[in-house]
Order: sequence, then C-alpha cells, then structure tokens
Amino acid sequence: MAKVDVKRRLLKINTIRIVVQFLSFLFFSAIIFNLGSLPILLPVLWTWGLQQNTVGDAFTALQLMLSGWQQSTPVFPWLAVASFLAVGVLLGKSLCGWVCPFGFIQDLIDFIKVKKMEVSPKTHEDMTLMKYLVLGITLFISVTFSAAKLLGAHRSYENAMGIFAYAPFTAVSPSETLFATLPKMVQGFSNAIVEKPVLEALAGVLDLPPLFWVQLFILVGILVFAAYVPRGWCKYFCPHGAIMAVLNRFSFMGLRRDLVKCVKGECRECVKTCPMRVRILELPWEKFSDPECIYCLKCVDACPNKAIRLKYP
Ligand code: SF4
Ligand code: SF4
Repeated sequence: MAKVDVKRRLLKINTIRIVVQFLSFLFFSAIIFNLGSLPILLPVLWTWGLQQNTVGDAFTALQLMLSGWQQSTPVFPWLAVASFLAVGVLLGKSLCGWVCPFGFIQDLIDFIKVKKMEVSPKTHEDMTLMKYLVLGITLFISVTFSAAKLLGAHRSYENAMGIFAYAPFTAVSPSETLFATLPKMVQGFSNAIVEKPVLEALAGVLDLPPLFWVQLFILVGILVFAAYVPRGWCKYFCPHGAIMAVLNRFSFMGLRRDLVKCVKGECRECVKTCPMRVRILELPWEKFSDPECIYCLKCVDACPNKAIRLKYP
C-alpha cells in the first residue's frame, strides 16, 4: 500500500513540473549542453549577465532596446513585445509555472518546512498591485530616457541615474543577482585564490560597490519572503508577472471545473493548494483564465474528484 502511495505521489503533475523547471534551468544556462546563444527572448525572469546564456529575458531586452544600450539611438523593442504577446496569447502565464528559473527557485524554497504566513484577502489584493507599480516605474524611466536620448538631451539623465537609466529594473532584479552577480563573485574569488593568499583574495572580492549590497539585500529579502509566502515574488512584485497577468485574460489557455464532479466546491482542496490564491470556485466553471494563474496544475493534482482539467482553446 505504502509503495502504491509513493508511486502515485511521484507521478503527480507537480513532480513532472519540477523536472521540467529543472531541465529548463539547465537549458537556459547551457552549462550541460554547451550551446551557444539562441535568438530567442522569453517572458521569464532570467539574466543577461551570465556568459553561458542560451535565451534572453524579454523584459531586460525591452529596457535595453528602449534605452538604446550600446547604440546611438533607442530601438523600439519589437522582439520583446512580440515575445510577450505570442507567449501570452498561446500559453498564457504557463511559462511562469513551468519554465521561469526564478519561479523554480521559489518552488524549491517552498519545500522548506516553515509555518506559512497568513496574508489577509484585503492585504493580498492590495499587494498584487505592487507588481504593476514596479512595471510602471520601470517603463516610465525607460520611455523618458528613450525620449531624452532621441532628443539628444540624455547626458544629465544618464549621469544622474547611471545604470538605472538603461535597465531600471534589471539593475536590482533578484534574478540578475542570483544567477549572474553572485556566480561571477564566486568565480572571481576562486580565480584570485590561485594567485593570492586567501585573506587578500577575499578582501579583493569584498571590495564591492554599494549597488551590490542593495542587490543582495533585495535578493535575500525576496528569498526569505518566498519561504513564508509561496511564490511571494511572483504574486506581488514581478513586472514580468504583471505583463503576463494582463495577457493571461486573452489567452487560449484556461481551466475547466466540472460542476457534476465538484460537489458544490465543498472540500475547497483546489483553493487551499493554489500558490497564486486564485479564487477557483468563484470563477466561471466552463473556462477560467485568471490573471494570476500560472497553470502549475496543483489544483488538478489536489482535487480528489478529478473535477479540474486544462481547457485549450
Ligand atoms: S511572475 Fe514569477 S514565474 Fe513569472 S516571470 Fe516573474 S518570477 Fe518568473
Ligand atoms: S488555479 Fe490551479 S493551475 Fe492556476 S495557479 Fe492556482 S493551482 Fe495553479
């Protein structure tokens, strides 16, 4: 009996999803496949700072193209916009649930056994708006800097803002810190330790700009928060998530809840298990594509009556 239970648990969709997330992470960083860069932008939180990247992060591309990074004039970010639109319409927010490396890290952190924080419905509703604020501030800086550059009046803007003029969000993105800044630091230390005494090598590595400590503070804060609030970053702060939440409404992707099997939604197992706090039982049963749903399918796994399934289109 115990063996059957283990087998059933291993076959759950969530296990398959974790494996897909892990393989995607390996593919993105190309450390196993030794692949070169592909001309693909995806709407997931990744990094541009890692040398062994295969794919690009669409939101960083959008900021860099708008600001005309390493170019004399800004460029309209067609590729990034196309990536958001195509993925949003065809797959909704499912890359957040199955592919995004920073989403994967949060799902791993969620396995840490700590008492999860109770966030009241009102606070939750208010906090989901934060990601639109992050998105709005980023776009405001990128667009105004782009306009200043087109008018040839960007020098003082650039001097005042530094790297924030070119990549206002990516400069402090926790994903950038985790997947690029910290690995580079470790690599720098391991190179230095070959040539210098340990303390001297450590002093060299720790001689860091104030921006690094800000990045580290944000990263640690977000990771600790994710341990207490599942997918806390995705629900409340991620600007990628904000764009995809808007597009999720227009997606072919959706879920269907069979009313006959659902028995008036009495058990509420699907709602209890949903990391994004989607109000499944209050949405149209024929098909729902909630802005926050990342199609992790945990609700499908959790339903004892097998009442929920994917609906496409
Ligand atoms: S919302 Fe979460 S899963 Fe989606 S892009 Fe942002 S970090 Fe990744
Ligand atoms: S509604 Fe279901 S598929 Fe969507 S996020 Fe919640 S548990 Fe995942």
